[in-house]
Amino acid sequence: MFDTMKRRKVPFHSSTPGKVKMFVCGPTVQDYAHVGHARTYLFYDMLARYLSFFDNEVDLVINITDVDEGIVKGARSARVEVEGFVEKYLAAFIEDMESLRIRSVRSYDRVSRHVPEVIRQVKGLLVNGNAYRVDRNVYFSVDTFPAFGSLSHLTPYQLSLRPLEIAKAKRNQTDFSLWRAGGEGEQKWDSPWGRGTPGWHIQDTAVSYEHFGAQYDIHGGARELVYPHHEAEIAQMEALTGTRPMVRYWVHSGLLTQKSEKMSKSKGNTLWVRDAVKEFGPDAMRLYFLSMRHTSDVEFSEKALREWQTVHLELRERVGRLVRRVGQGKESRVASGAFLRSMDDDLAAGRAIRNLRAMLSMGEDSDRRATEAVLTARAASAILGVDFFEHGN
Ligand SMILES: [Zn+2]
Repeated sequence: MFDTMKRRKVPFHSSTPGKVKMFVCGPTVQDYAHVGHARTYLFYDMLARYLSFFDNEVDLVINITDVDEGIVKGARSARVEVEGFVEKYLAAFIEDMESLRIRSVRSYDRVSRHVPEVIRQVKGLLVNGNAYRVDRNVYFSVDTFPAFGSLSHLTPYQLSLRPLEIAKAKRNQTDFSLWRAGGEGEQKWDSPWGRGTPGWHIQDTAVSYEHFGAQYDIHGGARELVYPHHEAEIAQMEALTGTRPMVRYWVHSGLLTQKSEKMSKSKGNTLWVRDAVKEFGPDAMRLYFLSMRHTSDVEFSEKALREWQTVHLELRERVGRLVRRVGQGKESRVASGAFLRSMDDDLAAGRAIRNLRAMLSMGEDSDRRATEAVLTARAASAILGVDFFEHGN
């Protein structure tokens, strides 16, 4: 598995054999999910399914950002209460994920439920001398944490060229907010520093700490979150607990672009998950997005997605023919060599799907190959979450 921190592929071992603790940065619930979200969360669902396939108990938590200026603005322009606004888009997000058969998530956990833990962590960082207060704001002092920059591989000089949250009162312009006084209309809570709102990065460590404690196995998210978001998470948690590393494996997925721009509502190039599922179905969507190299940025193509629809039907027909010849096949772990080897190589699902297609066509040659191909299709169904079996099989 490619690890962002080590910048190379490393073998994966969870800290407790048979159990994997995994955290993935979730969306800000201010709108419907678009196909860029589908790409990201389908990949982590596949990773969780793959680990479960080998009898790991995977505990996957996705945090839901429900504290954000964008949410307050969205609710205001829709003329509804913030809580109702959040609930609507959170329910829609979960519904969209389920329509894509993303079933490995144990908890979609709202950040606003963890504000007391945020306050506890900010207090701890102040006590440890890693944070300082200016009026009603608290900042993390990056100079007190020498490992800052190690995930994004930025030198202190490069960091100084990318200041965060420009504010005169900060000691170092790279310092980031732990607690903010916040502007008018923002969601606010009482704290020892006055009424205010949690900084973005500490929202995530509050959620992850309450589920997993000071260390867990995998942290995932889109690559654009490496700096500053994940860098800040490491600084906060490791400075607070002294346990290193906070995360044993960092996994990042590439962006989905359209006309070489990141897909986003503001650019008006959005395709919503719900519309796409209606048009293409979950199988074609899973095959299309999972066949992408997960570390690369990929240009979205509706044409390619449509082609996968055809490929899926073809594959299902082939599996159906082979099943009629040799029967169902139960023990999927026995005979799926090439497929699993590709998956094992940094989750190269695109290659694994090609392996499956080749095995299915060779399956016509003999009963032995047919059985092997059916078993591989069983494994592929479980790991990719794609239905390769006709109804009743
Ligand atoms: Zn996050």
